[in-house]
Amino acid sequence: PESKLPALGTTIFTQMSALAQQHNAINLSQGFPDFDGPRYLQARLAHHVSEGANQYAPMTGALPMREAIAEKTAELYGYRPDVNSDITVTAGATEALYAAITALVRPGDEVICFDPSYDSYAPAVELSGGVLKRIALQPPGFRVDWKAFAALLSSKTRLVILNTPHNPSATVWRSADFAALWQAIAEQEIYVLSDEVYEHICFDEAGHASVLAHPQLRQRAVTVSSFGKTFHMTGWKVGYSVAPAAISAEIRKVHQYLTFSVNTPAQLAIADMLRHEPSHYRELSAFYRARRDRLAQALEQSRFKVLPCEGTYFLLADYSAISDLDDVSFCQWLTKEVGVAAIPLSVFCAGPFPHRLIRLCFAKQEATLDAAAERLCQI
Ligand code: PMP
Ligand code: GLN
Repeated sequence: PESKLPALGTTIFTQMSALAQQHNAINLSQGFPDFDGPRYLQARLAHHVSEGANQYAPMTGALPMREAIAEKTAELYGYRPDVNSDITVTAGATEALYAAITALVRPGDEVICFDPSYDSYAPAVELSGGVLKRIALQPPGFRVDWKAFAALLSSKTRLVILNTPHNPSATVWRSADFAALWQAIAEQEIYVLSDEVYEHICFDEAGHASVLAHPQLRQRAVTVSSFGKTFHMTGWKVGYSVAPAAISAEIRKVHQYLTFSVNTPAQLAIADMLRHEPSHYRELSAFYRARRDRLAQALEQSRFKVLPCEGTYFLLADYSAISDLDDVSFCQWLTKEVGVAAIPLSVFCAGPFPHRLIRLCFAKQEATLDAAAERLCQI
């Protein structure tokens, strides 16, 4: 058939993980832990399965799950979304992003995003007939130039997609960024999609700034998160969106025909986990800070130059002192010849990205990080 997405191939994550496997390389490419999630969470899943919680969950999400999400949001961001109208449980953040974009973007609408940007946004915008306007952020800070942002706004602008803590740059938005965003869009009916899947992995002293903490912006915002990152269980694929009732109603129209509802026992287990072991997400930043520092310190002995990492479980490394290859070729070479798989950054950008940067995932056991660093120090 004639393709609706002719320019699109297989995701870089699938490509690099396959290449890593083929060459038996240490896989620091696709973002997933090589250690297991909490035993308690697994036990609760088994419990709910054995108790017979095996039929469809409500379309919007299991009630204990929505209650636990409301509780966590109130605790962390000082705002309690309505359990019935504002929270929708989805099959990972990926589904929430897709449902929100499909619900909000009409043919011809303009959508602004910041490059490098996570790879699932653009195809969803395209399938809805939207036009993506990309602002290129520059390393090492990847800060938004608010003048450039204002210049991109038009009467057709419908949605702004942001991601903080940011994959792949590992930078975070501060509350001043949200204030600047509000100032820029206040006068127009523009919505905000805030991808906050790394909300609990933030090394900034001020903590994670959520769009939900901004009283005006949150009235126009869809916030998306995922338990895959938070509980080291990327394979469970449970996430959610939080948005005001009128926006959530539109998202649910899409969600009910995309998946209808999400895995019941996993939702109930996660609700138990959120309620009984909140220390897990409260301590997650410290847990990952130690891994970030271990990898960063080990790479001080290498010819890579590590960039500051304010959040996520990704570290950027500049290889200009090592090679003139473009980043895609460098990552292939690194996987095949050095035995370490990483992700090139240019694949997250529409325009040229002439920097020599790769993304390394440090959601790994210490032994994995040490072994990878040893190889990276030899080149
Ligand atoms: N957004 C970002 C920025 C991500 O990094 C990821 C996955 N790592 C997702 C969304 C998708 O999350 P999920 O696996 O829950 O669908
Ligand atoms: N989000 C993960 C990453 O950035 C990958 C998710 C996927 O493979 N779709 O590495």
